[in-house]
Amino acid sequence: MTAAKPASDAPGWFPMLPKSARISLQRARDRVSSWREALDYVAQARARTRTRLRNIAWELRHGRRARLEQFGAIIQLVYPRALVFVDRARARTLDLAPPPGSRLWADAGADGAVGAHTLTAPLEAHLQITNRCDAGCRGCYTAATPRGDRDEWGLADWKRAVDALADMGVFHLALGGGESAQLPWLGQLARYARHRGLVPNLTTSGLAGLAQLLPIADEFGQINVSLDGLSGDGGTYAAVRGFDGFARADAAVRALRKRKAEIGINVVVTRHNFHQIDALFAYARKRRLNEIELLRFKPAGRGVRAYAALACTDEQHRQFLPRLLAACKRHRIRARVDCSYTPMLAHHSPDPALLSSLAVYGCTGGDFLVGAKASGQLLACSFAAPDLDRPDLDRPDLDRPDPGPNNTAAAPAAPAPNVHDIGAYWHTPEAFADFRSWRDAEEPCASCRYHTLCRGGCKVVSAHVRGHARLPDPECPRVVDWQRQRADRDSGESGPRADAPTPPRRRLPILDS
Ligand code: SF4
Ligand code: SF4
Repeated sequence: MTAAKPASDAPGWFPMLPKSARISLQRARDRVSSWREALDYVAQARARTRTRLRNIAWELRHGRRARLEQFGAIIQLVYPRALVFVDRARARTLDLAPPPGSRLWADAGADGAVGAHTLTAPLEAHLQITNRCDAGCRGCYTAATPRGDRDEWGLADWKRAVDALADMGVFHLALGGGESAQLPWLGQLARYARHRGLVPNLTTSGLAGLAQLLPIADEFGQINVSLDGLSGDGGTYAAVRGFDGFARADAAVRALRKRKAEIGINVVVTRHNFHQIDALFAYARKRRLNEIELLRFKPAGRGVRAYAALACTDEQHRQFLPRLLAACKRHRIRARVDCSYTPMLAHHSPDPALLSSLAVYGCTGGDFLVGAKASGQLLACSFAAPDLDRPDLDRPDLDRPDPGPNNTAAAPAAPAPNVHDIGAYWHTPEAFADFRSWRDAEEPCASCRYHTLCRGGCKVVSAHVRGHARLPDPECPRVVDWQRQRADRDSGESGPRADAPTPPRRRLPILDS
């Protein structure tokens, strides 16, 4: 509740009335305001209860889902929402084991070794179900336009995509755009995903489509509104996006939060809104949101041209974790950071076992996650250009990829597949080669103790800044320091080791979904 304004501080309230009458009127106004907030609170509590009951009913109907992996199994919990990784012994206690004749658990050394092998299927798929959007944000990573892409898929194609992903055992969908809230069939697609056992989550700008979205909000697990800054004096929404859409986005946050408890905000962190991280946490807390997700700005789509002006500085990258922790502590709200921020976390030398147990993983595109464009084209992650996924046969200075245990040799590039074909493509030698070759890293990643978690940082940034996805993330503070040291020493051949040898992997990480 906001504090009631003292009656004596209420100039303009019927100044012609005697003071006692003015105080009575002021108290009545405060009471109305308090009642409104109380009614909001009741509506939000009802929304929370409705969502919980719905999740429990969904779990009862679909049963607890599990998927076998070389390390053991992944168990999906709906309430509380989590993906739990268990080793083989624990899987057996849950009556989970490969059928007779299967070679999935043949390698005893793979037991409990999360990350040692590519998963049998992604955990989640990020589907850009339209590239239509009127907003025209200057850094839009999909370069969305009011007309969208020429060959965008419709509902029937996306339902087939859901079938393909469900058949593989994918757990979550992240639906986005463009502005997908405006699609007339969005609710049908979300319902279909639920029917096939996948949890659909949604990201919206909040700038359009709210009226269509509100009645179907319960179909989604989590809805996050993109909010890259605040408004007014010192506000940064306009500095980041090129226009001030804060009021509309905020109205969408409030309306959705009345309807549903699982509402959060996505914040793309740039050099302009970095100083507002704490204020954005305060905003999320004030609106009683359940999470705030911070994303590093990527040079993708229109972001390629805006990158030099918007990307955070090296100093800001080094300050990211302390700022984040301070804001979490002060505002007591759950924060998530995207995969590309792992190097900025590693800079502060946390215990790798702690990162592992918190399920902090770096570049898991083409493994834990995949993306698809509005035309269905499969990507390693939603920020990756399609050509990032193809083996680069022309570069003499890079080894051919070692795509993992299911792949024995790299093959010539072929046309990028669409998401309908993911089941067949996933195990081919050329699948997501630039991403799955992370084990063949150059220094300083090769000797970095975080390498098995971080996987060399963001490949989209590497491709943009250094010209190839397989090179170490040039914005990782460890990489920056290593390059400086190497330049200072002018050694030419091998630089200093980034860190101690990789420690043993921890088992049983839990991925909060
Ligand atoms: S390239 Fe890797 S780190 Fe970057 S956004 Fe994609 S999956 Fe995340
Ligand atoms: S040196 Fe490489 S593996 Fe280590 S944190 Fe930086 S980008 Fe990640």
